[in-house]
Amino acid sequence: MKDFQNYHPSPPSSTQSNPPQAGGLVDGQGRRISYLRLAITDRCNLRCQYCRPEKGVSFIPHQEILRFEELGRLVAVFCALGINKVRVTGGEPFSRRGCLPFLTRLRKIDGVQHLHITTNGVKTSRYLNELSSIGLNGMNVSLDTLDQKRFWKITRRNYLEAVLQTVHGALAQGIPLKINSVVLEDTRDDEIIQLAGLARDFPITLRFIERMPFSGTMRSEKLENGNLLRRLKRIFPAIEECTATLPTTARIFALPGYKGTLGLIQGYSRLFCETCNKVRITPTGMLKTCLYDNGALDLKSMLRTGAGDHEIREAVVACIHNRFKNGHEAERFSNRETEPSMAMIGG
Ligand code: SF4
Repeated sequence: MKDFQNYHPSPPSSTQSNPPQAGGLVDGQGRRISYLRLAITDRCNLRCQYCRPEKGVSFIPHQEILRFEELGRLVAVFCALGINKVRVTGGEPFSRRGCLPFLTRLRKIDGVQHLHITTNGVKTSRYLNELSSIGLNGMNVSLDTLDQKRFWKITRRNYLEAVLQTVHGALAQGIPLKINSVVLEDTRDDEIIQLAGLARDFPITLRFIERMPFSGTMRSEKLENGNLLRRLKRIFPAIEECTATLPTTARIFALPGYKGTLGLIQGYSRLFCETCNKVRITPTGMLKTCLYDNGALDLKSMLRTGAGDHEIREAVVACIHNRFKNGHEAERFSNRETEPSMAMIGG
């Protein structure tokens, strides 16, 4: 793999080809963009029912996926524009060979102050030592139930033990850990209580997430809007909301006697767009300025038609300036018949 940390498309030092952007990256609503979610693959070793169908999953052809050099170059360009937090996502990032060396090199890019990963935890336990040694700033593990049968029903795979091995391994390594649990229409209260037990016993944040319309299938049933908070308050009447440090996607709650905290991500209600500080790059190099848009800039074409870093920067700045004001507006303009799969976006 080419060492993109020393990748200089033009003059020797990256700061010359990527001089820091005065004032950082700010959108038309005055929101500062400092967080990049980078999806490095659409492949995954699970088949979660709310993310993609069981059958007929067509994966993106390899040549259409951004190469690690291209991903690295884009991270350097975005960091020069003011990005300081990078989250590597997928599909499942560890489904792509070379994920760990890529993370190691990302760590060395000027401007990457916070390096995080979102994983389903199935294979991750084997990389924990290295992830700890590169100083990973945080890991989000997706885990929707601790019930074996339900795990099979939701993910269509039998990997609960492997995921728990990653959770306990990350805790043992002291890697800051959050668990993301999508609450589905048929999620039972006892499952929510069991999951919350992890935040009672360990210093983690267990975040319950509203189901969002990214299942890779035809748009189906009406999704819940705002009921999840009421449900959590019914199950945990003693929860106290903590003052969140903005920008944040999650509302955080404390409970007496808990070592950790509970969180709520209202990704469908979209109540936090006012302080949204993130953009996404999909596995095919599409810049999404909002989870709900259809993609705003084809970075892969720019990379593969010889655009210089300066041109890419200008296009990104212009694109972000025209960002939708919130996820509802973005969805309105998306006019989608079918729901894209979350694995093609990166969450
Ligand atoms: S819905 Fe769009 S604007 Fe709102 S928080 Fe998510 S990404 Fe940001």
